[in-house]
Amino acid sequence: MAIKNAYLLDLLARTEKRNPGEPEFIQAVTEVLSTLEPVIEKRQDLVDAGVLERLVEPERQIIFRVPWIDDNGKPHVNRGFRVQFNSAIGPYKGGIRLHPSVNLGIIKFLGFEQTFKNSLTTLPMGGGKGGSDFDPKGKSDNEIMNFCQSFMTELYRHIGADVDVPAGDIGVGAREVGYMFGQYKRIRDEWVGVLTGKGLTYGGSLARKEATGFGLCYFTKEMLTANGTSFEGKTVLVSGSGHVAIYACQKATEFGAKVVAMSDSNGYIYDKNGIDLDCIKQIKEVERKRISEYVKYHADAEYHEGCKGIWTIPCDIALPCATQNEIDGESAKILVKNGCKVVSEGANMPSTPEAIDTYLSNGLLYGPAKAANAGGVATSGLEMSQNSLRLSWSFDEVDERLKGIMKSIFKACDEASKEYGMPGNYMAGANIAGFIKVAEAMKAQGNV
Ligand code: NDP
Repeated sequence: MAIKNAYLLDLLARTEKRNPGEPEFIQAVTEVLSTLEPVIEKRQDLVDAGVLERLVEPERQIIFRVPWIDDNGKPHVNRGFRVQFNSAIGPYKGGIRLHPSVNLGIIKFLGFEQTFKNSLTTLPMGGGKGGSDFDPKGKSDNEIMNFCQSFMTELYRHIGADVDVPAGDIGVGAREVGYMFGQYKRIRDEWVGVLTGKGLTYGGSLARKEATGFGLCYFTKEMLTANGTSFEGKTVLVSGSGHVAIYACQKATEFGAKVVAMSDSNGYIYDKNGIDLDCIKQIKEVERKRISEYVKYHADAEYHEGCKGIWTIPCDIALPCATQNEIDGESAKILVKNGCKVVSEGANMPSTPEAIDTYLSNGLLYGPAKAANAGGVATSGLEMSQNSLRLSWSFDEVDERLKGIMKSIFKACDEASKEYGMPGNYMAGANIAGFIKVAEAMKAQGNV
């Protein structure tokens, strides 16, 4: 959607000038601003209070050196980041990403998105994100621990249970969170819920591991139901094979769909009989191997090198759950041509602006990431509540709360899209609903 409002265009130009070389951040800001025009027209008070200028500027950006030693005694240096984007409605909250592609612009785009996502969850959490260009692939447990301890040796002074509560993201699961939590506790000498995604023996929440993928399917189910359809009997593509993808595949299958493809950063598998998820869990979660191994156990399945090819498989529903910009305009057109009717995003910003335009102009149901994948951070919020209460809730209790939250997120997106004259445009609905709550809080707290 193109921006026409002169004030928003000027704000975008100033943001571009101030943040050179950060295309993902500018892409995320452009997407949000492109949907805020009707709000700005009604709410001059928010413009006068400088809310938007402050929203696109992180409150704090921390960059630090992370030295560590590999198993051969060789020293290495990576770069660590924590961007504390917005604390208007609660302590900063957002994951840590370990991937060689990580840079400041990527962490800023994720922190910016997180601000709106956390607002949509209805829980009191601000937006933040962190990470490092460290590549966990092929590293031993000892090297991962060594890196995580070094990372936390700087990060500890910037976070806290009421200040900033990191979690997992790409390359960070329970193992990495455990090493970081242990180091924080050792330095600070306090046991507090300073990280979420912890192991179940030390304050982690049941259903946190499953939450983003399950939540994605709960949101998508609401969207399908509101539009007179369902998962039942549908053919589904799920990209990625990490935390989000695995549990999206599980829940979509439970809802009666057939998932026929999954991927990793090397290639994708196609199994016309439906993905054998136990086999994927064994390969990816237990053995930490490549997805290509799948065809060794399933002779009927195919493996293809390259990530984009997955979007050429005919499907009814696409659930991108790997990484940003994984569906470009060309892939979106192929999806549409092959009959895809729904795209719902597990990954953060997996669709390029051209892809989103293609979905909207062809009448697809489009579940935007900041709403559809908010179940992970929502359950992290529930983990924080359990830690503060010194209680643990059962799996079913957490799952029920997650369902309720995803339902209310869909309702908020749907209602905002209707109220602001864009019915069915859930991207606009998510941006507007997320924005209004944060903007009101920022205005009420004065020019800080
Ligand atoms: P994982 O590290 O568990 O899995 C990531 C998956 O995506 C892996 O299969 C990985 O393949 C693949 N992948 C990563 N980078 C690329 C790339 N450049 N090209 C192609 N494939 C790639 O991460 P998560 O499942 O936790 O995260 C996936 C997405 O979901 C991210 O966008 C994340 O920000 C988002 N998200 C995660 C949440 C969570 O709770 N974990 C919450 C909300 C959003 P390989 O193994 O080869 O690297």
